[in-house]
Amino acid sequence: MNDYVVPLCYLAASGLFIVGLKGITQPRTARRGLQAAEAGMLLAIVGTLIQKQVVTYTWLILALVIGSAIGTAMSLYIPMTAMPQRVALSHAFGALAAGLVGTAEYYNREPHLSTFTAGALVLEVLLGFLTFTGSLMAFGKLQEILPGRPQVYRGQNAVNLALLGVAVAAGVLLVLDPSRTLLFPVLAVLAAVFGVLLVIPIGGADMPTVISLLNSYAGLSGAAMGFVLDNKALIVAGALDGSSGLLLSIIMCRAMNRSFTNVLFGAFGQVTAGGPPAASEERPVRSATPEEAAMLMETARKVIIVPGYGLAVAQAQHKIRELATVLARNGAEVTFAIHPVAGRMPGHMNVLLAEADVPYDQIKDMDEINGEFTQADIALVVGANDVTNPAARTDPASPIYGMPILNVDSARTVMVVKRGMNPGFAGVENELYFQDKTLMLFGDAKAVADGLVRELEASVRA
Ligand code: NDP
Repeated sequence: MNDYVVPLCYLAASGLFIVGLKGITQPRTARRGLQAAEAGMLLAIVGTLIQKQVVTYTWLILALVIGSAIGTAMSLYIPMTAMPQRVALSHAFGALAAGLVGTAEYYNREPHLSTFTAGALVLEVLLGFLTFTGSLMAFGKLQEILPGRPQVYRGQNAVNLALLGVAVAAGVLLVLDPSRTLLFPVLAVLAAVFGVLLVIPIGGADMPTVISLLNSYAGLSGAAMGFVLDNKALIVAGALDGSSGLLLSIIMCRAMNRSFTNVLFGAFGQVTAGGPPAASEERPVRSATPEEAAMLMETARKVIIVPGYGLAVAQAQHKIRELATVLARNGAEVTFAIHPVAGRMPGHMNVLLAEADVPYDQIKDMDEINGEFTQADIALVVGANDVTNPAARTDPASPIYGMPILNVDSARTVMVVKRGMNPGFAGVENELYFQDKTLMLFGDAKAVADGLVRELEASVRA
């Protein structure tokens, strides 16, 4: 019976993965897409567990219980704002699993590996271990355990290239003669070191692209593992993960105007390291109270709200939606401008605004809205920083130079809600705050939004 049930489970799982991927391309269908992918994963696990090769369930059940406990705790306790770190850790664990399975398979089957299986195994181990250490580095940078700025040194390209070259050569020799057992640890260790070197030259602001690339590598490693183990579900799921991750990286590189080859090969091509963060000199800024800001807002006809990471930290989405409603009631046209990397994960702001029931037609992507800032009376920046920094257009030495930004500085008045003068994720100062037309509304985003709502409501009533 298993001869039919297992392939059917795998076929249904693969179909559900594809439906899931399609679903998550639209906010409206994202929830259903994720449910389809979850059902697919459950079927894939069931299909794997009922195979006749499984001789004892003791270890499997133990692993299932421990893994599920860790996974549940992670999803319950890790906040949304730390999602990229959490995703990086998941990639690290997935890739480590692939690397370890590859290692076990190699030592179990070593003199009798066919050229094809040895090739798949080498790819699995190379990508598995490099993704493991690369993802740990990405986790460290995102969690700010490691410095987020690009770590660049002389001869970096040559070192990386040489290391990758030796790892690939060891892999090729292993494929030609799998009994060269000494080469296997060389391959595994070099892959792990390459993973570290791949990520250290990449700055914090480019991390989203690296994460999706590592996602793609983990997927490809999984697909290679599928060939080694002759497991169709792994091949399909790994290929889907690998190709969608790669496409996402390319799309994000385009959105951020980054060279894909730089991200793909770490230090290859030109990498702009930039200097250390500018010492926070005491430069004057114009600040205002919610009362003063509300007076200006009363007469505004067009307001563009720019949410960023700080909005997520403050959980200010509901208050900001309330503010948008009051402004609209007062006759203003209100829209939300979303930068592709605002927050800490792709789609972060869309998720928060959807949670607060902001109508989809009020939410505009960067390309759609950027031309409209010139007609805006007020650009209200809520906890966003890097995605509004004009240095991306004007300062070639800046680590974010070349990244398209939201043109908030074209609005008649800019209001910035943040707690102090701290820099954003990229660690660079923002000239926007020192412009004459900019008003700083210092405070926690939720508290400031609450103050604005109260002031506006009071003046409308008066
Ligand atoms: P930034 O990280 O550039 O800036 C966030 C700002 O929010 C800070 O300057 C901070 O200033 C302020 N802030 C923090 N907490 C609060 C609070 N409670 N209330 C009010 N303000 C607060 O955010 P952006 O969204 O502009 O840019 C995202 C950055 O993250 C980009 O550099 C992007 O490349 C990077 N990134 C994006 C990922 C993605 O996939 N979207 C993934 C990983 C990184 P202060 O402390 O003074 O309040």
